Amino acid sequence: MTSEPEVYFGSTISGVTSRFANMSEKLDKILELLDLSTIKKRDKVAVKMHLGFNDGYQTVPVFFVRRVVEAVKKQGAFPFVCDNPTAVYNAAERGYTQETCGCPIIPVAGVHDGYVQKKKVDIEGVKSLYAAGALLDADVLVNLTHSKGHGSCGYGGAFKNIALGGYSGPTRWQTIHGVVQRDKYFDETKMTKDHLEKLRTACPRKAPAWNDSTGKASLEFYECDQCHGGKQLCIEADGGVTGWTIQEGNFDSFQELMAAAAKIILDSFDESKIFHLNFLLDITPFCDCMGMAMPAVIDDIGIVGSRDIVAVDTASLDLISKQGLNESVLKKIPERYMRVNPNLRAKLHPFQLIHGPYKDPYKVTQFGEVRGMGSSKYRLIEVLSARDTADIEPPKHQYESGPSFF
Ligand code: SF4
Repeated sequence: MTSEPEVYFGSTISGVTSRFANMSEKLDKILELLDLSTIKKRDKVAVKMHLGFNDGYQTVPVFFVRRVVEAVKKQGAFPFVCDNPTAVYNAAERGYTQETCGCPIIPVAGVHDGYVQKKKVDIEGVKSLYAAGALLDADVLVNLTHSKGHGSCGYGGAFKNIALGGYSGPTRWQTIHGVVQRDKYFDETKMTKDHLEKLRTACPRKAPAWNDSTGKASLEFYECDQCHGGKQLCIEADGGVTGWTIQEGNFDSFQELMAAAAKIILDSFDESKIFHLNFLLDITPFCDCMGMAMPAVIDDIGIVGSRDIVAVDTASLDLISKQGLNESVLKKIPERYMRVNPNLRAKLHPFQLIHGPYKDPYKVTQFGEVRGMGSSKYRLIEVLSARDTADIEPPKHQYESGPSFF
């Protein structure tokens, strides 16, 4: 891998109202520059997506999925879209079918979510992860990602699409999400249900939780926005009784395990057969797992593609940072739904302004870079930019160009 990987970018902004400069053409150009010729005839190509849940339709538009699938087919290869079994089972409700995507859609770890391979992982306190078999069976990986916010780590992008999405349900929910509980942040022997209730009442996010079946307390890290760097009301309510703390390290453990989990998936492919595409459209504050429509808190930006996972997510985060939050949308969102940093000018990434300073969205890319997965120093190449296309005389625009019903 070169020290400065190329990252191709197609903006939603075009220089001229003509099809030659629009998003579909930009995607085609990005695919051309990514050079799909390393995909060989008869290769089985996993197009890993998050197909959303229930009413969560703000995922990668099927229009683009079909275009990527067609580009793969042109190489003589056999693509298939894959995701967890639930998302696959009801994908048609959100417009994803074999007919619309142009290829089969299969559950990434089998219909019972048990077609997996046990993989060792070098993270303290975690012995193994169960990687999705259909993904590991493939010859080629197209990591097709909807970039959006995420409650656990600030951002869900290329890393998360394979780090969580590349594993069975128990690995995702219990092992990877559960790693945040590894480092102790209060004295369990001094915690009672009543005391926990005091902490929960004090917390505007209701993040401290009590589990009746285990009789144990925990912090729901997904919900905690760390009081946005202000007075942490749960600690005040604890009053030193259990030594309750909000530690950055707990949040970081999730990001470190995500990087390690993504590496296991990527290492199962030849380096020349990995492609990453991030769609920075409908950038919602929370993950596609939420299964509901959400406000787009950052305006549409475009499509980002690279062969380097660190570069593609770093570039996507940089573009999101440059774009900034859509404050007119934020103003309409009540605190119960989402609390943002009271100082929107604070030197934090937009996703930290939503999810709190400890959920630094770059962390996963930094852990990935340390593990040799790619480079955060990239070369951004914009395709069919507004500036370039504004100077080109477009072909005469045709409305309803065919088939003609007149
Ligand atoms: S830091 Fe704030 S948001 Fe987090 S648990 Fe404590 S009170 Fe709740």
